[in-house]
Amino acid sequence: MKVRVGATTDVGVAREQNEDAYLVRAPIYAVADGMGGHQGGEVASQLALEVLDRMSREDHELDLRSAVRDANRQVLERASGDSSLSGMGTTLTLLRVEGPRVRLAHVGDSRAYLLRDDELRQLTDDHTLVNRMVQEGKLTENEAKIHPHRSILTRALGVDGDIEVDIFTVDLDAGDRILLCSDGLTSIVSDDEIRTVLSSQADPQEACDELVSAANRGGGPDNITVVVLDIDEGEEDEDGPPPEEPIPSPEERPREAAPRARWPRRVFLWVLVPLVLVIGGLLVARAYIGSQWFVGIHDGNVALFRGLPAEIAGFDLYTLVERTDLSAARAVALQPYRDLEDGITADGEDDAREVIEQIEEDLERSLTP
Ligand code: CA
Repeated sequence: MKVRVGATTDVGVAREQNEDAYLVRAPIYAVADGMGGHQGGEVASQLALEVLDRMSREDHELDLRSAVRDANRQVLERASGDSSLSGMGTTLTLLRVEGPRVRLAHVGDSRAYLLRDDELRQLTDDHTLVNRMVQEGKLTENEAKIHPHRSILTRALGVDGDIEVDIFTVDLDAGDRILLCSDGLTSIVSDDEIRTVLSSQADPQEACDELVSAANRGGGPDNITVVVLDIDEGEEDEDGPPPEEPIPSPEERPREAAPRARWPRRVFLWVLVPLVLVIGGLLVARAYIGSQWFVGIHDGNVALFRGLPAEIAGFDLYTLVERTDLSAARAVALQPYRDLEDGITADGEDDAREVIEQIEEDLERSLTP
């Protein structure tokens, strides 16, 4: 079978960084959606795809299950060697074209779809908490779509040394179209709209771009990545199509804001702010700061703090109240808490304690097999 491919990744409207990545290097195609504070998500998704890209070039008969497990181990290793990356993880939905069929490997909530005879079929199962609750009959499909914790994953690369990988094979027909995508598309654009775009837009690249536009029109709250493969009758060239840029290069990725000029900010922080605080309103500021609460990280665990999650001129504006026994790395792996390191602010102590209870509950649910 011959394959024509289109691929797009987009930061979306609301996010500043793109933590998604894709791989397009015949016969391997994949999307990965990273998570974790700071640069973690970006590192995890890129690393997983780089590992798989390298292994598949070295061994064309690569066993996909053990390859994904290797990638998982490498993500874990990188995270354990660098505290700023701890808690990072990534989804992975990968396929390899093998003559008249494709073999898929899947972990997480990115998806693969097959469009055949104008009908769209989801090939992968989402490894999410809400999908499991739907399968257990505890939630309806419609309740799942608006559930506040719908993005919590039950499986991802980078979480555990043992990883369960869905592996399956789909027989191809000429005229089939396969879509790989991250949840930035499917959480916004309905299956019906996806089907309409895929059935009406003949060019795979234009189909990708149109799907990304649809997600951005819907608010673009998350990074969006789509890969479209068109399967046609005929022989794939021995070498495959010309090597395409497999993973978006740094130049294509959204840039960080240029570092601000250093010294005026320093002067501001070291001189002006303490002056204002000391002379102007030390007591007011202290009373205000003392009334604030937030949930953050202390010594690797989720912790309760009083004050503001910030420092001025080297002085912390907070005090530790209580260190829980909940692992911060595991909490950060859950999407609602990915910014835990920056502090989740709360309206008072009760509110902060409720956040901690919610984290505890979500951690338990995300682990129950
Ligand atoms: Ca996502």
